[in-house]
Amino acid sequence: MLWKGRRESSNVDDRRKVTGGQIAAGGGILAVIALLAQLFLGGGEGVDIGQVLQQAAPQESRTLSPEQQAREDERASFVKVVLADTEDVWDELFAQNNAVYEKPTLVLFSGSTQSACGSASSATGPFYCPGDNDIYIDLSFADDLKNRFGAAGDFALAYVVAHEVGHHIQYLMGTTQKMDRWRQQLSEVEFNKKSVRLELQADFYAGVWAHHNHKMKNVLVKEDIEEALNAANAIGDDRLQRQATGTVTPDGFTHGTSEQRMYWFRKGFETGDLSQGDTFNSPLID
Ligand SMILES: [Zn+2]
Repeated sequence: MLWKGRRESSNVDDRRKVTGGQIAAGGGILAVIALLAQLFLGGGEGVDIGQVLQQAAPQESRTLSPEQQAREDERASFVKVVLADTEDVWDELFAQNNAVYEKPTLVLFSGSTQSACGSASSATGPFYCPGDNDIYIDLSFADDLKNRFGAAGDFALAYVVAHEVGHHIQYLMGTTQKMDRWRQQLSEVEFNKKSVRLELQADFYAGVWAHHNHKMKNVLVKEDIEEALNAANAIGDDRLQRQATGTVTPDGFTHGTSEQRMYWFRKGFETGDLSQGDTFNSPLID
């Protein structure tokens, strides 16, 4: 994506200077166990992409070399530009529907931090918290995308940010609130099926964003969509589960298979049409 020198969003809460130290070490392990339990036993609020990362690895506060610091600062600039792009696109799409887009805040952290959905650690992977309307990301996730999942390229990270913004769109549209009701009413297996549809819709919204971002600004390059699809493929539940447990149990899916994630992102990108993203009533999803 052509991003250098473009507008960076100011809706960013940069907590990277605050390190968790020893607290991060203990909390990280507990957080991972809790997240794994949530992932495989039923979806939880504020659990998202890449939650099985660094499964049992202790959380240590990082000391960055000057080169790593420079790279991380560049990544911070990149995600701020992506966030600004999501603001411009969703501002426009909401305005077309006579609505006002209330912007989320992006929280950048390293190690661990607190959210209204509980403590966030780098092992959590990026997520959106409907309790405070914040998107949480530890930029070291970009290394995980590349090294653990083989999803390289800047647009892989853009897709992840756009997916989390997609969850914010769902909050603004009342879909998140419906999920809360279903959480009370449905069995775990049935609720997980809704959760898959929620996640695939967030992928669809990420695609819709990419469509309009390119239309408005002409900033995508030809590798970008492939990078996004590659990332969607890499973090499908079936693939993450196989990596974590060696087997795949569809009842435990909360995000959708790799194939489903790619399908819905691509559909959003190709159509740019919000009305085609009703994953909750799509016969294509079991
Ligand atoms: Zn998600």
